[in-house]
Amino acid sequence: MAVRTFRWAAAGMVVGLALGACQTQEGAGDGGAQPRQPAPPGSGSSSGSSPPLISFRSSGDAQFDAWRNSFVNKADASGRKRVAIVSVLSGLEPIDPEVQIASFDNQAEFVKPIWDYAKSAVSPTRITNGQAKLAANADVFSRIEQSYATPREIVAAIWGMESGYGAILGDIDGPRTLASQAAMGRRKDFNEGELLAIMQLIENGSATRDQFRTASWAGAVGQTQFMPSTFLAHGRDFDQDGRKDLWANTGDALASAANYLTASGWRQNEPWAIEASLPANFDYLAGDGRKLTVAAWKAMGITPATAPQFGNSDALEAELFLPAGSHGPAFLLFDNFSVIKRYNNADSYALAVGLLADRLAGRPDLLRPWPTDIVMLTQQQAKDLQTALNKLGYNAGAVDGVIGRGTRGALQGFQKDKGLVADGFPTTEMLDMVLAAAA
Ligand code: CA
Repeated sequence: MAVRTFRWAAAGMVVGLALGACQTQEGAGDGGAQPRQPAPPGSGSSSGSSPPLISFRSSGDAQFDAWRNSFVNKADASGRKRVAIVSVLSGLEPIDPEVQIASFDNQAEFVKPIWDYAKSAVSPTRITNGQAKLAANADVFSRIEQSYATPREIVAAIWGMESGYGAILGDIDGPRTLASQAAMGRRKDFNEGELLAIMQLIENGSATRDQFRTASWAGAVGQTQFMPSTFLAHGRDFDQDGRKDLWANTGDALASAANYLTASGWRQNEPWAIEASLPANFDYLAGDGRKLTVAAWKAMGITPATAPQFGNSDALEAELFLPAGSHGPAFLLFDNFSVIKRYNNADSYALAVGLLADRLAGRPDLLRPWPTDIVMLTQQQAKDLQTALNKLGYNAGAVDGVIGRGTRGALQGFQKDKGLVADGFPTTEMLDMVLAAAA
């Protein structure tokens, strides 16, 4: 999903596919666009701006028509060719807003605990399939590693996460979903920018309009799920046939992903993370986002969980990541973790990619299991926790039901004062203790 800068725009591929069956197919040749004719009277151009340069057959939705009339002028002013504008925008009908919004609200990264996401993302089937794909494409991966900084297992893991190694590309019309979001005012500038990028890709011959008919709900395309603007900036024609075919050409898709990760700052020969074992009575307050050298972490008693040593990483800086508090595996995260997040800005996604990559490379599974018996707080329970912590004088910040750094820090303060393991992890047991103290 290359390069969604917003968390919710990532990946609900399974959800998207399920809902995609509801989408009606649009005829390619009946767009009804008539360039250079003024909008008919009462056609819904309520923006008050100048008449549209191109008149489209009404979508049947006045708000959508008004947005499109306005956007056509914007696209023209930004230098897009009219043939590309017509190609992308003709024949579009808005997706039902409730269906569209539901496709984002069900994003897998946010409805599951991080370990459920990681466990399903790093399934035995995905590991087996990935190792087979690495073997089958060994020559392509070798050539990509010669040109880009990112190792093959990371590129392969992203390939597996994004499309099941090229098996599932999505069946949503990219321009339709982007236009629908823009018309309803959802991240309008972003979605309009993606539509302009599609027009540019068509203009410069990188791709065709029809290729964008197999996209995700976010508008991402191809085997490595690139947003159009990322495609435009970082897409690669690996086999040099004149096209950047991220859909059918595995080399083009994988080289584009490797190129994007390299451009995002991938540090060659550095890990993304190492599972860490913490000493007894470890001060969990150190897991507050601070970055220290590996040598400094070692001095605090941290040891590698599965590797025999930390390698030559003493001078590298890392952040201690405790996704399950004191109840599950701990990680030292290196800068490459942030690079994965440039692809999809969710910790759960980057963790899953890294863990899958480790397995694809033949590295061992996690030493410490995930605490799958723990029940996560509901949003209302999280709000109750925040309210109670604030009442007790621990600054949990805004009562928004989101367990972020502020809430965890406040909970750590409470735990420390009570003589508990101060990991800041909000179990239901911890919620009960905080509520009792605040009552
Ligand atoms: Ca190509």
